[in-house]
Amino acid sequence: MGLSKTLWASPADFLRTHSPEHPVMLFSPETLQACAQEFLQGFPGLVTYAVKANPEEEVLINLINAGISGFDVASPVEMDTIKRLAPHAALHYNNPVRSRTEIKHAVALGVKSYSVDSHSELVKLGELVPADGVEMAVRFKLPVDGAAYNFGAKFGATVEKAIELVTLADQLGYDVSLNFHPGTQCTDPKAWETYIQTAAKIAEATGVRIHRLNVGGGFPSHRLNEVLPQLAQTFALIERVTHEAFGVEAAPALICEPGRSLVAESYTLITRVKSIRDDAHVFLNDGVYGGLSELHLVGVIDRIKVYGPYGNLRQGDLVSRTVFGPTCDSTDKLPSELGFPADMEEEDHVVFSGLGAYSLATATRFNGFGNISIETMQALVKPETDKEVLYA
Ligand SMILES: *Cc1c(COP(=O)(O)O)cnc(C)c1O
Repeated sequence: MGLSKTLWASPADFLRTHSPEHPVMLFSPETLQACAQEFLQGFPGLVTYAVKANPEEEVLINLINAGISGFDVASPVEMDTIKRLAPHAALHYNNPVRSRTEIKHAVALGVKSYSVDSHSELVKLGELVPADGVEMAVRFKLPVDGAAYNFGAKFGATVEKAIELVTLADQLGYDVSLNFHPGTQCTDPKAWETYIQTAAKIAEATGVRIHRLNVGGGFPSHRLNEVLPQLAQTFALIERVTHEAFGVEAAPALICEPGRSLVAESYTLITRVKSIRDDAHVFLNDGVYGGLSELHLVGVIDRIKVYGPYGNLRQGDLVSRTVFGPTCDSTDKLPSELGFPADMEEEDHVVFSGLGAYSLATATRFNGFGNISIETMQALVKPETDKEVLYA
């Protein structure tokens, strides 16, 4: 995957002179900077970035330049990458299960913030991580709806367990914090409300002063034309509920650690129509083993445009079609049908907006496909016609 130095004004600008056989991701640094500013200016606390959503160096460097100074890291490789690019950034090691070797790696790098969701892992950390000036964030979970899928299935202590862990972490001498993750692509702001109220109850039950409250990632990106993310409203709700639940004076400092919502909008995926088989099924040159890898978990993205030769936008009436990726695996199929212009033809390009998260990071080379190249797009908002507003 290489990054070319040419700047394209828009997908159509690129497609005017190119008709790539392989999938292409168009990266817009300007869009990434704008998303970072939305968080930095809007979130009532520290904004950190969950590196796993997209660890491309161009992303990390742009976020660092935008002023993101903390990173949620889950592995030694992620820690080393951030240390190299931003030696003074805060590393929050928020993968609650770690090997002893991994913990020693973090201690050697000077990591000062850890999360934990189990007794055995807290005891392990207690043996390896000196408590002085170190934050131990207890991660708890609730059975709340609103997200695309359930994050509590793997991580998070029950409320009873969290109370026990807060007490023990305090006894071990750590600065105790709380954190949660409402689940990725969480479109219901109310999920945060329930979590924050519960955090206050955990604090009250233990009598331990909670230093910081990390309200997770989970902030949604724009996936469906009809459903706009409500970031500003969610930030306001988080601040209000934290003050109500803890009291303004006693309220812990807030942290968020978005992955998806920071990075999704800054990449646009250009795919090519390999075939419209017997005028029915659409076969693209990328699918669920490539840049569209999480669609079967999170649901389809319908923010698509179709371009014919020389970047001409197809404007026909929409026809609903089943979409398959290029591999021979029958699961390589998008989870729901998509509407395509009736005048779409083989070798047209289908362009998906908002695909920067969990796409390049999880793409495979299965079956010999998945050779995704990266190009740079300059434009943040650049309407090409009255009708086309790419980042409205
Ligand atoms: C993956 C992850 C995130 C980011 O989640 P998004 O849904 O992409 O915002 C944040 N925190 C932790 C601990 C994670 O594992």
